[in-house]
Amino acid sequence: MKISFDLDEVLFVNPASHKTEPSLPFPFNRVFTERLRLGTPRLINELQRLGYEVWIYTSSYRSEKYIRRLFRLYGVHFDGIVNAQRHLREVQRDHKTILPQKLPNHYRISLHVDDETVICSLGRQYGFQTYQLDAEDDDWEEKIIECAKEVKEREERIAQMLSASDRAHR
Ligand SMILES: [Mg+2]
Repeated sequence: MKISFDLDEVLFVNPASHKTEPSLPFPFNRVFTERLRLGTPRLINELQRLGYEVWIYTSSYRSEKYIRRLFRLYGVHFDGIVNAQRHLREVQRDHKTILPQKLPNHYRISLHVDDETVICSLGRQYGFQTYQLDAEDDDWEEKIIECAKEVKEREERIAQMLSASDRAHR
C-alpha cells in the first residue's frame, strides 16, 4: 500500500512553531534550507519497514533530484515523488477543466498526508483517503502509523468481499 506526504507545512516546517530535526552540517545547510518536522526520518523508515511504499506528493516546483538529495542526507529514500511538474504532465495533462492540485489516487496512493483543508475535503469528493496534519503534534508518528493500518485493513476487507462475491457469481 502507498502513502504520500505533502512537503510544505507537513514534512518541511517552521522551527519557530514546530519541533524540527537538526539542520544539516555546513555546507549542505547552505543548499538545503528547509527544516524537517521532528521524527520525519524515523517515521518514513518505519512505514517502509512495515511494508508501505512512501511517496512525496507536493504542489511545489522543487525538482525530484533536489528532494531526493535533501532526504538522502537524513537517511531517507522515497519510493516515488510527484512534484508540480509531474502532476501537470501526468495528471492534469490536456484536461479542459482544472483538476485538483493533487490526485493521489491517480498513482494508487491509498493515504495522503496534507496540511490543507481543501486537499483533505477534495479527498472525499475524488475518493482518496487523507490525514490532516498541520500544527505541532508530538504523537504524529504513532497517529499516522495507526491511520495507515486502518486504511490497509479496510482495503483488505473490501478485497476479501470482492473476491467472495466473485466466487459466489462464478
Ligand atoms: Mg502543504
